[in-house]
Formats: sequence, C-alpha cells, structure tokens
Amino acid sequence: MSVTKKPGGPMHRDRYAELKRILDERRREIINSVQDKIRDVRTEGANSPTHGVLDAAESSEADIQDDIEFALIQMKAETLTKIEEALRRLEEGTFGYCFECGEEITERRLRALPFAVRCKDCEEARETAQQRERMIQRRGSAALFLDMQG
Ligand SMILES: [Zn+2]
Repeated sequence: MSVTKKPGGPMHRDRYAELKRILDERRREIINSVQDKIRDVRTEGANSPTHGVLDAAESSEADIQDDIEFALIQMKAETLTKIEEALRRLEEGTFGYCFECGEEITERRLRALPFAVRCKDCEEARETAQQRERMIQRRGSAALFLDMQG
C-alpha cells in the first residue's frame, strides 16, 4: 500500500486515524467515568445504613457533595459535546487545522489539547497580542484614542 503525501490536499489517512483515536479515547474515558460516578451514587444510596437519619448539618454537607458531583458530571457532559463536535469536524476534514493560518495543528498539541483551534505559533501570537492589548487598556482609553488618531 502506498500513500502519496500531498501538502494542502485531503488529510493524510494516518493522521485522520490518529486524530480519531485521540478523540474516541477521550470520549470513552469520559463516558466510563460518568458511568462509574452514577453507579457509585446508586450503590451509596442503596447500601448506606445511615441514609435517612442524617442530622441537618450532615445532610447539608451531603447536599454540597451532591452539587459538586453534579457540576462535575455536567462539565463532563459539556466536554462530551465538544468531542462530538470535533469528531464531526474531523469527518468534514476541518478538524486539526489552525483557525488562523490553516496549517496542520501537530498531533502532539492535539493530544494535550484536543479542542485547540490554533497552531502553537498562532496561539502564542494571539497571547502576545492580548497582553499588548491589556497594556494599552491599562494606559487608559484617552491614550488609545490618541494612538488611533495617529
Ligand atoms: Zn496557525
């Protein structure tokens, strides 16, 4: 089997497979951890002998715990949505390319940040620009106004 590399052409098969693997793995991890959580909560509720005889302080502490668990599950659900979107973009052939310059985002970067939309260079340039903007804002709007006039 021979694969010809065409720069700027359709995504290389190996890269596609690798990116899909990264996203699928993430998705599986999240689904598993949420299922484990739900199972934990159920077993706890069924087997806990103290359940139902908690005093007010204990039960509010349990409520806080429940809230935290819920927030975590919700956060994971949102991540799951992002993964689904990324998989859809992968099918369209738009995933893994820099939003700014159109270059391929490295697999290494995507493995660490699966939802990165910019390559490392563009992200750094953007951060530098944002820092500069913050500095300008600190100098005050009057100065900015004068800069714009010049
Ligand atoms: Zn870029």
